[in-house]
Amino acid sequence: RESGQAYQFETEVNKLMKLIINSLYKSKEIFLRELISNASDALDKIRFASLTDKDALGDTVDLKITLVADKERQTLTITDTGVGMTFKDLKSNLGTIAKSGTAEFLASVESQKNNTNLIGQFGVGFYSAFLIADRVTVVSKNNEDKQYIWESTSESDFRIIEDPRGNTLGRGTQIVLHVKKDALEYLEQSKLRQLVQRYSEFINFPIYLWASKTETEQVPVEDEPEAETPNDDLDDDIEDVTDKEEKDTKPKTKTITKTVTDWELTNQQKPIWTRRPADITEREYNEFYMSFTKDAVEPLAYNHFRAEGEVEFKSILFVPKKPNPAFLQSGDDWTHNVKLFVRRVFITDELLGFLPRWLSFLKGLVDSDDLPLNVSRETLQQHSIIKVIKKRVIAKAIDMFRTMAAKDEEKYIEFWGSYGNAIKLGVIEDPANKKKLMKLLRFRSSHSEKLTSLEQYVSRMRKGQPQIYFITGEQPDTFSTSPFVEKLIARGYEVLYFSDPIDEYLTNAVMDFDGKKLQHVGKSGLKYGDEDEKSGESLKEQEEKFKPLRDHLKERLSAWVDTVRVSQQLTTSPCAVLAGEYGVSGAMEKILQAQAI
Ligand code: ADP
Ligand code: MG
Repeated sequence: RESGQAYQFETEVNKLMKLIINSLYKSKEIFLRELISNASDALDKIRFASLTDKDALGDTVDLKITLVADKERQTLTITDTGVGMTFKDLKSNLGTIAKSGTAEFLASVESQKNNTNLIGQFGVGFYSAFLIADRVTVVSKNNEDKQYIWESTSESDFRIIEDPRGNTLGRGTQIVLHVKKDALEYLEQSKLRQLVQRYSEFINFPIYLWASKTETEQVPVEDEPEAETPNDDLDDDIEDVTDKEEKDTKPKTKTITKTVTDWELTNQQKPIWTRRPADITEREYNEFYMSFTKDAVEPLAYNHFRAEGEVEFKSILFVPKKPNPAFLQSGDDWTHNVKLFVRRVFITDELLGFLPRWLSFLKGLVDSDDLPLNVSRETLQQHSIIKVIKKRVIAKAIDMFRTMAAKDEEKYIEFWGSYGNAIKLGVIEDPANKKKLMKLLRFRSSHSEKLTSLEQYVSRMRKGQPQIYFITGEQPDTFSTSPFVEKLIARGYEVLYFSDPIDEYLTNAVMDFDGKKLQHVGKSGLKYGDEDEKSGESLKEQEEKFKPLRDHLKERLSAWVDTVRVSQQLTTSPCAVLAGEYGVSGAMEKILQAQAI
């Protein structure tokens, strides 16, 4: 029926559409969330453009989203006054999969099959329109082009024509969903209202629903001709007089009900971060997090604060329940994790280097009144205020972790399981925060099955214990039977077990804690603190006694070892190979070898 040039969908788009339709048929309703989120993005874009270009808004100054359901035509129309799409945009944005992430996602879903949760989490975008529609018409007007109509029936192609009606939108995009027979419920106003409230509660633009409601109204009653009263006596006359007087001042009214159809505002749009934390429930934070990040599960922790002083801003930071598996390796993707707003206007989520690598798992937003609105993103990145904000955000994130550790050990252990390596990386790479971060470290140790902090270790140190002992290696099961460790345990000392590859780097960064040196049990420099005169003497005696053996070994092994000495570190093992105090440990050597390959 529609004329115009036909274009083929990219193969991936076809695949994605099939996938969406087949795997999400049980949660069709997400289509509305996706389309409203696109409308909101488009509104963000034009609002951002208008900050530097005062003509960008033109005559279409109201930034809003409207929803109209037409039961007769069986269409649902979603209109926004956002940035709109040019012919080129329509062709490429609604015909290909622009983001490389989507293609990767497709591949991963295809390999796993039927992972609906993953799809929901990902945000399937525009093509979810086909969950409830068998024909989708998109009318769009961008400032840079004429108004066009895009249309598709989700088969392999779509068509685009110039809109014969000319420019009817002013600016923006109108999506007309020709609703399938099995999805007619989405034409019900109550259903739409409920969905907007559930999914789009946190959209920062007004969403209006074309809705009818019954109104009751008091209308004046027409003056009826006075009825003749059969008993026309005096009393009645008097009453009649008072009645008349009342009538003159207060006309008689009656209540009528009528149905009116009008725009109904369905969302609050007061950004959650501008509200007082005391007034916000945990549920609201969780819902906000899920709609803000498109994560499928609630966050592990959050911190909502207002920074005052040098720079004022509001912020909410979130720790996702599970990290992206590649979070410490991935390039600089994580810069999108923090969204910047200025006076509630979304500015960017591309602040390169805003978060240090070790904090790359953190998500959230910052809203500042102090930043200029009309600067480019590039200038913003260098802005001195951004640098101050960055510092405060990092400090607040650390506060959040500390609070978790202090108040909810179980949750902190979960946090540690997911993000322990990130904290360790922070100790290594963030000297300014190293002290605070070291207190957040947790290790296994010879003390018990439970993880311990360095503070707890120190609190258990024996009187006169001069050092904090640790052992490194890949097989923690063997630690307690290591000849180095067994003697320390025998003397009642505790040994920390460092078994993560990153722990090797960590021990180079953490030389001491609370004034105590961290000492590798397999390196020279180990002190017990209870070596007394006697054992000193006996060591001397033993050195004398074993001198021939020592000299012999030293000569025979000269190609491999620097020195051979008599030691009191061992209890049952006859000998052990040690790394020099400043040399690399055995485990580190393995890491270095692995990296060289
Ligand atoms: P995403 O929103 O994640 O980019 P979508 O599939 O939802 O992916 O949308 C694809 C693209 O189509 C968007 O990035 C945007 O460029 C364009 N688009 C979709 N809806 C609109 C709209 N209402 N106004 C302007 N552009 C839109
Ligand atoms: Mg989208």
